Amino acid sequence: MILNIAFRPKDLIQYILLFLLTIQVVYPQEVANLLTGQNGPFKKNIRIEVDDTVGNKGFLPVSIFRGKSEGPVFAIVAGVHGFEYSPIMATQQLMQEIDVNKLIGTIIFIPIASRGSFYNREPFKNPEDSVNLNNAFPGNQKGTITQRTAHIITKEIITVSDIFLDIHGGDAPEDLIPFVCYYNNRKKPQQTALAKRLSEIAGFPYVVSYPYTISDEEPAKYAFKQAVQDGITGLSIECGKLGNVQEEDVLLIKKGVYKMLHEMQMYTDTTPIAEDFVELNSQAYITSNEDGIFYSSLKAGDEVEKGQLVAYATDEFGAVLAEYKAPVTGTVLYKLTTPPINKGDTIMCIAFYSKENE
Ligand SMILES: [Zn+2]
Repeated sequence: MILNIAFRPKDLIQYILLFLLTIQVVYPQEVANLLTGQNGPFKKNIRIEVDDTVGNKGFLPVSIFRGKSEGPVFAIVAGVHGFEYSPIMATQQLMQEIDVNKLIGTIIFIPIASRGSFYNREPFKNPEDSVNLNNAFPGNQKGTITQRTAHIITKEIITVSDIFLDIHGGDAPEDLIPFVCYYNNRKKPQQTALAKRLSEIAGFPYVVSYPYTISDEEPAKYAFKQAVQDGITGLSIECGKLGNVQEEDVLLIKKGVYKMLHEMQMYTDTTPIAEDFVELNSQAYITSNEDGIFYSSLKAGDEVEKGQLVAYATDEFGAVLAEYKAPVTGTVLYKLTTPPINKGDTIMCIAFYSKENE
């Protein structure tokens, strides 16, 4: 029908105005202003400009879904690591699917937090400043582009959120089993209990809790740990691996988000999920001592015994440089899978259940 309507310049101006209203540049604290200033339902896409003094220019994309009535503010972040594609693509689909007319409360999406990492196809770090966004929190307003991005997420997004969900996966060289995780922060029992509940109803096969030992002054480093430190209910999904988009992982992430929104009474989702999960509250890490070529026949999800040989590394001539043994009995949560290995790399995370960490 639109094709039959005669073109009028006035319409074009209106379209442009509408477009400019939908995508606009905002400056500090304007996410908060948007949330207090306007009732829903509406969707608004904004670009928060992030430049630094060494010539990097970019923006943080933020999409605000304001529901039909008041309720919790639920932040969903993907692409803190830009090579973790299943979380990014699941978030794209969620943004297409969620209907603000059926939503209670607000969802704030950050569809790709580290655009530098994503567009440069660089695992872990943003090559523009060689900073890992998931190591940069709380960030620095006067730092490099990634440090400033962390600062904006801390100040603009975490401060206005009730729930902060950071979605990751295995990065380019990592195999990983799908899990949801939270910090067992005993200083904030209410937030911890909610994070635990949201993790347990999300339909993932593994629920992992990490000990929370940092002081209020220590840098949180990780995005969702920053949220936890700031008194927000923070949790993370880990799903997807090895620099690919796995369709089943995209579905698992989406399902998990819908289940969490349902639990928060923000969005209705009554589809069935697997209710069984394995609880793992302790972790042991194996770290590499040298650069070399990496060998391991294990997969994420395999069970290992304490003392079992789990990996080894050789030099470029094939001479064995190191053998790695499991320090504990447990489940391989994630591991390196591709041949290069550098000194200091986390080779493997083995998770297990311990009564001590309950
Ligand atoms: Zn990640």
